[in-house]
Amino acid sequence: MDEKTLHDLFKQLCEKHKVVGWKLAFYNKKRAIAQAWFGPKIVYISKYFFEHNTDEEIDDTIKHEIAHILAGAKNRHNSRWQQWCEIVGCRPKAFQSTPIDMPYKYFYQCPNCKKMFKTFRPITSKSSCGVCCKSSFNKEYELQKVEGK
Ligand SMILES: [Zn+2]
Ligand SMILES: [Zn+2]
Repeated sequence: MDEKTLHDLFKQLCEKHKVVGWKLAFYNKKRAIAQAWFGPKIVYISKYFFEHNTDEEIDDTIKHEIAHILAGAKNRHNSRWQQWCEIVGCRPKAFQSTPIDMPYKYFYQCPNCKKMFKTFRPITSKSSCGVCCKSSFNKEYELQKVEGK
């Protein structure tokens, strides 16, 4: 989905459900997905989420926020909001089933089987490959840091 399609989708949904005066904007939060801000009437969607997820996920997320607008600021993920989810046609779930695609920062490789391991944090203690190593630690299978990924 490109940005134009996203804005068209939002406009169509607003028209369909008589949501007036709301705008759609990107924010740069990586850990957030989307949020409806009732004060300025803006639905924020994470640019990162938008760029790393399928059309279905984005569609569902926009509908999720539309349901929030229709349910009103006082109703968060409660039964009233869930009723609106049914009407709008999105999953009545507080959290997306597909987690946001976080970028891994650290890459390690097993010298034996060449399997790559990805982590968010550096591995500080000595670790060996879980596939090759059957004991707690074996130098032969010690994970090697891979740079520049
Ligand atoms: Zn929500
Ligand atoms: Zn291995």
